[in-house]
Amino acid sequence: MTNRTPLMAGNWKMNLDHQEAIATVQKLAWTLKDAKHDYASVEVVVCAPFTDLRSVQTLVDGDKLEVRYAAQDVSQHESGAYTGEISATMLAKLGCAYVVIGHSERREYHAESDALVNAKVRAAFGKGITPILCVGEGLDVRKAGDQVSYTLAQVEAGLADLTKEQVAQIVIAYEPVWAIGTGEVATPEDAQEVCGAIRALLAEQFDEEVAAATRVLYGGSVKSSNVADIMAKPDVDGALVGGASLDPEEFAKIVRFQ
Ligand code: PEP
Repeated sequence: MTNRTPLMAGNWKMNLDHQEAIATVQKLAWTLKDAKHDYASVEVVVCAPFTDLRSVQTLVDGDKLEVRYAAQDVSQHESGAYTGEISATMLAKLGCAYVVIGHSERREYHAESDALVNAKVRAAFGKGITPILCVGEGLDVRKAGDQVSYTLAQVEAGLADLTKEQVAQIVIAYEPVWAIGTGEVATPEDAQEVCGAIRALLAEQFDEEVAAATRVLYGGSVKSSNVADIMAKPDVDGALVGGASLDPEEFAKIVRFQ
């Protein structure tokens, strides 16, 4: 038994304008209300584009929704001459509880290194925002059988210089790159292998208490049809859901994972 509250986070990526975002969150909240969803037993987060955050904030505050929201990236810098960047202070002001950091699409298309990812993690914590740190191997690494060592190296680098308290609070999302947006879902055993190894690393590098507290999610083609088997694994504490989170009824089913 653990006391980790499962977390289901929907990553909209570069989809949904601010009006569509409002409609999506409303539909999600209504669907979960009909299902009598208890947000204290499974936390629900939407990871929205920057341009949607203010609208989502207004809706959530106005309707007193229990859905929480996140940005999909943050600058490592505090403020200043960084055209196009968004700071953790700005996100905190918009009420973001979480921020996705180091998603494989950012690592790949924006050449984000482990050092940059770590700087962003520290910037988020500095303003009271919980990072959702994404890690995971590509197909070549998986084929070579090196998924555990590769992913653990990313975790170690991402957590550099954090306090024990921060590591207990952070959310780590294991997302094998070959399973993202491909329809190719890792088996529950694949997910458990790496999520379990991440928890063992936390126990070794910090302590058992930290390892028991940190939430480790799985991400990669999660749908309502496969989520229950993945959630049955002892070291999987939730899911980071891309494509399927754009459909609020489907995402509500994933949140319920029954
Ligand atoms: C993601 O974007 O983090 C993701 C897991 O995408 P998908 O669910 O579409 O594979």
